Amino acid sequence: MTLHIHTPLLESRALSLAAGCTVWLKLEALQPSGSFKLRGIGHACEVYRARGAQRFVSSSGGNAGLAVAYAGRALGVPVTVVVPETTSARAVELLKQEHAAVVVVGSSWQEANQYAQGLLREGDAFIHPFDDPLLWTGHASMIDEVARAGVKPDAVVLSVGGGGLLSGVVEGLQRNGWQDVPVLAVETEGAASLHAAMAAGQPVELDAIASVASSLGAKRVADQALACTQAHPVIAERVSDRQALQACEDFLRDQRILVEPACGAALALAYAPQRLAGYRNILVIVCGGATATLEQIRTWLRDATR
Ligand SMILES: *Cc1c(COP(=O)(O)O)cnc(C)c1O
Repeated sequence: MTLHIHTPLLESRALSLAAGCTVWLKLEALQPSGSFKLRGIGHACEVYRARGAQRFVSSSGGNAGLAVAYAGRALGVPVTVVVPETTSARAVELLKQEHAAVVVVGSSWQEANQYAQGLLREGDAFIHPFDDPLLWTGHASMIDEVARAGVKPDAVVLSVGGGGLLSGVVEGLQRNGWQDVPVLAVETEGAASLHAAMAAGQPVELDAIASVASSLGAKRVADQALACTQAHPVIAERVSDRQALQACEDFLRDQRILVEPACGAALALAYAPQRLAGYRNILVIVCGGATATLEQIRTWLRDATR
């Protein structure tokens, strides 16, 4: 038994028609915590508990915190999540539904994270949202499932925040002998930290994040994410916030699943016909996201300037 579920893999007629090629969807939005994060975080939490952890601590008010809270409740390990004041009421409510202790501190993630680090005592395990090899190994299981289903894509489309998903998918491609399958790594223009690092050939820290896709808002990607782009074919792609938001609306209509703009970014590549020209068979990781409401997405779309 794992904490994550084996998710459906389906061919989307609507997205295939929009993209002009066959589009397969790996529906990570259906994970019980609402996103793919449960694969890696669930695996990491199981390993830390086996090593004696008595509490899990997270500083994510997003899907990573939700995955830790879910894993802790399932494993019977208490969870503390420290989040900044900017965290939405909806996210706090979801964390409390999982019985996590929620501490609201500071005006930015940096401050909340610093406070969380100060809380750590003997027997606590800090669960990083993207920069931990245990996470990548857990995320890689989604590619094992695709391989076992007998579907070999000629490219994988996914979104990038801190690069944990990218690192895990590349690990999965490599361990299934799919070194020849490129990854199209999508960011929103205001959160393009992987693109910046690839352009510079070294880790780069962005001055600021300017995107509604908060789950992509890592100013600097994990070193492993950049290393992946040097060991495996990875193409950095960027879409506007407006394109990501429109993709959320279109995807809700077409597949009846609501996802965050962070996931809309990857979907936007399939909804924009010319962007996938030359591919015949695409796998899109529908990474999900539990913290956005339809009302919020519509408000952002109405107000989107970029
Ligand atoms: C965390 C997250 C991402 C980005 O994943 P990274 O591992 O940080 O690159 C994308 N979409 C959703 C919904 C997420 O929760």
